[in-house]
Amino acid sequence: MRKIDLTNFQVATSETARDINRRIVLNLIRSHQPISRADLARHSGLQRSTVSVIAEQLIDQRWITEGADGHTLRGRRPRFLHLNKERVGIIGVNIRPATTTVALADLDANFVSQESIRTAPNPEQFVEDLVPRLRNLIKMRPEITCEGIGVSLPGRVDLVSQRLVFAPNLAWSDFDLKTAIEQATGLPVELENAANSCALAEIWFGQQAEGVRNLVAVTVSEGIGCGLILNHQLVQGSSGMAGEFGHTTMVEDGLECRCGNRGCWELYASNSAAVRYYSQSASSARNGKATSKSVSQAITFDHLLRLTDQSDPKAIEAINQMARYLGMGISRLVTGLAPDVIVVIGEVTRAWNRVGPIISETVKNHSFTLANTRIVSKDPSSQPRLRGTIAVVLQKHFGAPLVA
Ligand SMILES: [Zn+2]
Repeated sequence: MRKIDLTNFQVATSETARDINRRIVLNLIRSHQPISRADLARHSGLQRSTVSVIAEQLIDQRWITEGADGHTLRGRRPRFLHLNKERVGIIGVNIRPATTTVALADLDANFVSQESIRTAPNPEQFVEDLVPRLRNLIKMRPEITCEGIGVSLPGRVDLVSQRLVFAPNLAWSDFDLKTAIEQATGLPVELENAANSCALAEIWFGQQAEGVRNLVAVTVSEGIGCGLILNHQLVQGSSGMAGEFGHTTMVEDGLECRCGNRGCWELYASNSAAVRYYSQSASSARNGKATSKSVSQAITFDHLLRLTDQSDPKAIEAINQMARYLGMGISRLVTGLAPDVIVVIGEVTRAWNRVGPIISETVKNHSFTLANTRIVSKDPSSQPRLRGTIAVVLQKHFGAPLVA
């Protein structure tokens, strides 16, 4: 049960009840479509007449549409309702340090169009590069009404100012991306941290999320981010900074991190860490020294995964070392939060046959609370980060309203 916050509450009005029922009906249509009004009344427990009024409103607002007649044994033909997938769209912008993907998706997060651009070194230039692409997307599909733009970032956004406040791997200065994109496109923009977006995508589109109350998404790329959903609710923490487990200390007096701290988890368990492990062992084999910048620049994480497939022993050891550190951090999440499921997202999941067992073993050796947490990988081909951008906008329209 949630305590009523006397500094920020909303009393229930008849409008509140209507809004809750409307969202329940919308969600029932989403999960049972195509569905008749009679079945909606049965599933929701609402009066048939109430369901009809809500359905008419949703049709007017173009969220749903009536499809072909259904068939019943008794001859009467109900008209089935389904989401208006062809007419309503959401634009997603997935910003990563090197590339940004821009896409148009339907309400089921199926992408109807997408392209990638280079991520500019500063946010002003980025907006200049991005806006023409967004306008093109909107123009290309005039039959689709865009409900909004979801933006996923490798950083954190201040809850009040909506400015980008913590993005060590993007190296952009504090900037109001939301207002800049909203003014240029006329569409509402939702900014969200990449790991939070992935956690939301898992809740809204994931196969394993039905009935899950507590879920942690761990995004592993240049850095490590965590998105926490506890008791069905995204945890934002004070001013939006919750989830930065990647910047908690894993190694006392360890390597210096771009965030200012030393020995951060992501310095030992990210893609960049694995590349560094490989480079160090390759260069020490060559000249007996443990550092070589030129080697570390010459190999990418992708290349390292390919070397692992070819049974290169140094590449395998580098990936194993990364996996052990991933397991160390994940064991803290298991012990500290006991979520139902932890979803690992990132290129490293392509080597899950190798990495998954090492993570499980490490967690087993470090977490003794008997938390019943499933640790699963997300298939990178499902584009979890990009789907996350769609979930960020979708939840605004389909999520449960805040009351009391
Ligand atoms: Zn750090």
